[in-house]
Amino acid sequence: MPVLSTREKLAILSDAAKYDASCASSGAGGRNSLKSGGIGSTEGMGICHSYAPDGRCISLLKILLTNFCIYDCSYCINRSSSNVRRARFTVDEVVRLTMDFYKRNYIEGLFLSSGVIRSPDETMGEMVEVARRLRLDEKFGGYIHLKTIPEASAELIEKAGLYADRLSINVELPTDEGVKRLAPEKRPETIRVSMAKLRSKIEEKAEPTLRTKTRERFAPGGQSTQMIVGADATPDARILKTSARLYGSYQLRRVYYSAFSPIPDASSALPLKRPPLMREHRLYQADWLMRFYGFDQGEILDGQPDGMLELEIDPKLAWALRNRASFPLDINRADREMLLRIPGFGTRAVERIIETRRFRRLRLEDIGRLCQSVAKVRPFIIAEGWSPGAATDAARLRETIAPKPRQIELF
Ligand code: SF4
Repeated sequence: MPVLSTREKLAILSDAAKYDASCASSGAGGRNSLKSGGIGSTEGMGICHSYAPDGRCISLLKILLTNFCIYDCSYCINRSSSNVRRARFTVDEVVRLTMDFYKRNYIEGLFLSSGVIRSPDETMGEMVEVARRLRLDEKFGGYIHLKTIPEASAELIEKAGLYADRLSINVELPTDEGVKRLAPEKRPETIRVSMAKLRSKIEEKAEPTLRTKTRERFAPGGQSTQMIVGADATPDARILKTSARLYGSYQLRRVYYSAFSPIPDASSALPLKRPPLMREHRLYQADWLMRFYGFDQGEILDGQPDGMLELEIDPKLAWALRNRASFPLDINRADREMLLRIPGFGTRAVERIIETRRFRRLRLEDIGRLCQSVAKVRPFIIAEGWSPGAATDAARLRETIAPKPRQIELF
């Protein structure tokens, strides 16, 4: 095998990492190196995210330790049977790259994942060593996200949590059947057991110890996961059901949805085309409805025959159009839970409505100042001096408030 320079390895291993969407750093606790005399901080300027046009986060140095892999997951460009160029960083190279990029202000942290070389423990051991050296030898205070390997030993995962801000374990696909079919060497049960152990460890370390009364730092950004969408025929309703279970069972900070990307020499079990990126976006919106808007997973797609989120309109508007009997709502009286269900209202707008109406009754003009599109809100609310009349039940309501289709630009 030719000897590759660090630069060549970086080109290969950053490109190989672009398929992983689970790199956003939200939720990390503060880490500041002022006291340690080291470098970097997750506070102050904070972690800011920038996203490439395809929606991937690019503010972290996002690389694989290696794209060699002993597994053969059909949807993965790095699977053992794939004909891609391979490379492998040494621990030293990753530490050096991270520090160099950080000092030049290119990145706020490191997102490190890897193919599995020789054994899960050997791979995980090297990833932990990168994080350990960054934290202890380089006194690096920036953000570290390690993608953990479910089959790795509990001791290694525990060590990873000491140095990383966030750990993640990919569930890979929304259903066990999908994992068995497309990633036959992976065991959904092992993935679940790893996530459960990680949850217990995070909870255990969040408790102050009896002796020192302090909390031990352990993956303060919690755990997250990623599932690939569109590699099989699983409908959105089932995907959201899996997400709701994951949030409930393992206290995940985030579930990331990654639209399947067709890969060269792909297995015939995979679709030829990637799903529309809008599907990924709608899943994130539905995910937010579950986490911040009080929607139950089952009701988001209740009454939608194919179990798929509509691509043309957002899931809250789609739900409201299917449940018009719940509207119009009087914004001067409705409780918070129902206000959150009004299309066009974000959580901040709802808080401001509740705050303002303590002093006076709100008119439609007030609402226009609180939300982005009063045209979207109008048919669903009653305000001082405003009632939508028959508009809420109008047969053409959807056409009047849905975003108009746009001509695709060809040149
Ligand atoms: S284990 Fe990870 S890197 Fe290896 S083939 Fe499967 S998805 Fe790809």
